[in-house]
Amino acid sequence: MSHWLELEQKYYMRTFNRLPVVLVRGEGTRVWDENGRCYLDMVAGIAVNVLGHCHPAVVEALTRQARTLIHTSNLYYTIPQLELAELLINHSCADRVFFANSGAEANEGAIKLARKYGRLHRHGAYEIITVTGSFHGRTLATLAATAQPKYQEPFAPMPEGFRSVPFNDLEALQAATTERTCAVLLEVVQGESGVHLADGDYLRGVRAWCDQHNLLLILDEIQTGMGRTGRFLAYEHHGIEPDIFTMAKGLAGGVPIGAVLAKERAAVFTPGDHGSTFGGNPLACAAGVATVRTILEQDLAAHSARVGRYLLEQLRALQARQPAIAQVRGLGLMVAFDLTTDRAAEVVRGALQRGLILNNTGPRTIRMVPPLILTEAEVDEAVAIIAETLADLPAA
Ligand SMILES: *Cc1c(COP(=O)(O)O)cnc(C)c1O
Repeated sequence: MSHWLELEQKYYMRTFNRLPVVLVRGEGTRVWDENGRCYLDMVAGIAVNVLGHCHPAVVEALTRQARTLIHTSNLYYTIPQLELAELLINHSCADRVFFANSGAEANEGAIKLARKYGRLHRHGAYEIITVTGSFHGRTLATLAATAQPKYQEPFAPMPEGFRSVPFNDLEALQAATTERTCAVLLEVVQGESGVHLADGDYLRGVRAWCDQHNLLLILDEIQTGMGRTGRFLAYEHHGIEPDIFTMAKGLAGGVPIGAVLAKERAAVFTPGDHGSTFGGNPLACAAGVATVRTILEQDLAAHSARVGRYLLEQLRALQARQPAIAQVRGLGLMVAFDLTTDRAAEVVRGALQRGLILNNTGPRTIRMVPPLILTEAEVDEAVAIIAETLADLPAA
């Protein structure tokens, strides 16, 4: 066993079932392990490396910023933070932004905004309606919002103020609304549960319901944002605008960052309500500016739509001749397929041995969230390896 695997087993908290590779270098859509083996990366650090690994624009921005000013706190004005703020506001429906350091932290900010809004504008309402199969993070409040008992049970009791209803069921959401409700929190495409799409009619219905009852619509765009689904933000597919939305994962091309964005009427924080030592730090924001500019300049959202459609087509063609695949779904470069049996972990390991990185979100579901720079030739390469892996699965 590699020395590094032994060190992990000895020293690291037992939180991850990692694949047995030590990754040491990345470039574009490829990563290399400590033995020099190359892999095509269809996971991209879980939808994080949107420009691929070590993109020159990100490396250049980080290097320049690291030589200039790394951190100051938010006691002062800094330039990359304000450049990134302006870029995001100019390319979204939001009027104001707050930067955090992760997705969960961005969602915490959104939850606090919704509660303060309820206090000010809905007679003290504080409850947030979430949906089954969602994922919003691992802090206590975002875990309470996540509505998946397996994540919550070991850490009970959960913070109050969250109520979950079935996904894509407008009537259930309407029935769960009370005078205590202040907001609805949704993903446009659920990522961690294995790429499940919200219906357009459902989203428009939720938007109308929120308008009718003075509830805030919060969209978690942490995984779907940054061009992932074929639009810069996934809500753009459906002709609606949220009151609040959150971003993280791909926002700084691989550097930790999170953001909560809101329309003016929902941006109810006043000085002292919220803060962060690191949030919006010059290093992370310089990487964010480089990443967002590159995505916009190269129209990687349109590229993601095109290559994602091709990936779906190729997987559906494979499904037609490979009975192990039960279903294929996706939007842009956020794609998954279900197997007919619980063998997703075996498929991930088999593909890894053949030089392809995949991710299983459940016992029979494989997810792909590759860099947005992925080419059609690389789709062919990935699908060929998936086909070979499925064909070679030992009889169960
Ligand atoms: C990853 C993810 C989060 C949590 O982000 P972290 O940076 O891991 O805290 C929240 N919501 C969605 C939709 C995600 O995909």
